[in-house]
Amino acid sequence: MNVPMLLPQFLDRAVKVYGKKAAIVGEKRTYTYREINDRVNQLSRGLQEAGINKGDRVAYLAPNTSEMYEGFYGVLQLGAVMVPLNTRLKPEDYLYILNHSGTRVLFVDDELLQLIQPVLNELTTVEAVFVHGLEEDQDALRSYEKWLSSFESDPVDRPDMDENDLATLLYTSGTTGKPKGVMLSHRSNFMHALTTQHHLRVSDHDVLLHVLPMFHVNGWGSPFYYTANGATQVFLKKVVPADIFQKVKENSVTVMHMAPTVLNGLLQYAEQQAEEAKTKQNIRIVIAGSAPPPVFVKAVEEKLKWEFIQVYGMTEAAPLITTSIIRDTQQDMSPEEKYRLKAKAGYEFIGSEVKVVNENGEEVTPNGKEIGEIIVRSNTVMEGYWNNPEETHKAIRDGFYHTGDMAFVDEEGNIEIADRKKDIIISGGENISSIEVEAVLYDHPAVVEAAVIAVPHDKWGETPQAVVVLREGYVVSEDELITFARSRMAHFKAPTIIKFVDDLPKTASGKIQKVHLRKAYWENKGKLVN
Ligand code: ATP
Ligand code: MG
Repeated sequence: MNVPMLLPQFLDRAVKVYGKKAAIVGEKRTYTYREINDRVNQLSRGLQEAGINKGDRVAYLAPNTSEMYEGFYGVLQLGAVMVPLNTRLKPEDYLYILNHSGTRVLFVDDELLQLIQPVLNELTTVEAVFVHGLEEDQDALRSYEKWLSSFESDPVDRPDMDENDLATLLYTSGTTGKPKGVMLSHRSNFMHALTTQHHLRVSDHDVLLHVLPMFHVNGWGSPFYYTANGATQVFLKKVVPADIFQKVKENSVTVMHMAPTVLNGLLQYAEQQAEEAKTKQNIRIVIAGSAPPPVFVKAVEEKLKWEFIQVYGMTEAAPLITTSIIRDTQQDMSPEEKYRLKAKAGYEFIGSEVKVVNENGEEVTPNGKEIGEIIVRSNTVMEGYWNNPEETHKAIRDGFYHTGDMAFVDEEGNIEIADRKKDIIISGGENISSIEVEAVLYDHPAVVEAAVIAVPHDKWGETPQAVVVLREGYVVSEDELITFARSRMAHFKAPTIIKFVDDLPKTASGKIQKVHLRKAYWENKGKLVN
């Protein structure tokens, strides 16, 4: 008989094999695998006493902390379902998600309490709120630490579980409407963890610095695949370059995952702080995804001397489905060739079947020119959207999840992301990839950040408008930048309008929110103000 793929097995094994090893380096203290497992068991006992059973939803509103890590295993070994909440939402979004998911118990970090306080009384299904960092109970708000310490740490009885049981509900950022609850099973997360640790060669020698937020799907998987192999995990509440470099040095960090904008921040910081930040440290690999990272490949490898890996995925696939790893055995290639390959999203993960198809559902010609939508099927793809069969049927058709991302496939079968369907600019009937235009702008020494959106044009229908943040101390005019772009790409692709801003709107995981740029454009009657 098959043994079901269940996530608690990862910590079980780490406790047996690496029990005395430093597992979690929290802001306040370090825990060995045994010590953290004791707290996980205490948490499970507390949840059992609170009446939490298999299938019940338990939500977390927290930055990356050891307490949140405890939730991954303390909640899941009871067969209950984790609902991690994005830390940048509005009170009404929390209200919607908590009621929609039918969450029964909520854990909140004391520093984030004010985000949810306005709607606490309106929650219809939450029965108890425990606050990390709160020393004494305050009315209905319970001190997590006090509560936890009242329970024994011996192993709990686990319910009968199946690998298809739900492990998490991860709500999307809701750019296109109400956030949708992506249902990921134990199997999805388990398979994702195994393939990711295989492709990234995660080992017990690794020290991970959690940079991506764990509430976001991209960071959500790390507590599984770094635990399974007994790596050490370092936590950081505030993701700013100075603190990242500090932790990297202090803890001999070997691996980090991050959004391209955060990587860009590290590059800027390293440039200003010169030698100290640039020393090689122990970093083995840096993994970037969530949004297009190609423009940073060369700088990361040459300036920071870190090995760069691009990954591509989405919440609905748990998330990673392709990667652009180049191995030593392939390295009889020039650096430029290597950077060119790493700038692509690469090849599919083991266990994923990824296709790029045209409007008729036929695979595009692998010539690097024909564009199509990425579709995927794999053991990691979601079960569907929670209580939303209509959206589920739209997204999963003929067994494939339709990503809404457009791509090219080159002669070697390498996938290159062109753009999100909704971000593509159609000018005079030609498709323009906003990512391609941004890459050209990033090549200008004065440009530190760039985002390109479609705006209406009398003659061409749409035209690319760039919104740009300039590097401190640099001056460049709109005309100069347009001329620069035109000298590097087909004229019809170059931006015709450039707006300068102090910063770009970003999600909590560091993605540039073009939807807000479009909104700002329309709210200013077509003139995004400088
Ligand atoms: P929502 O679905 O709520 O609008 P979202 O799509 O940004 O939000 P995620 O699931 O976090 O939510 O992000 C997945 C998307 O991020 C992908 O569909 C793709 O558009 C983009 N993305 C991820 N990795 C890459 C990458 N390496 N290159 C380019 N784009 C990427
Ligand atoms: Mg999406």
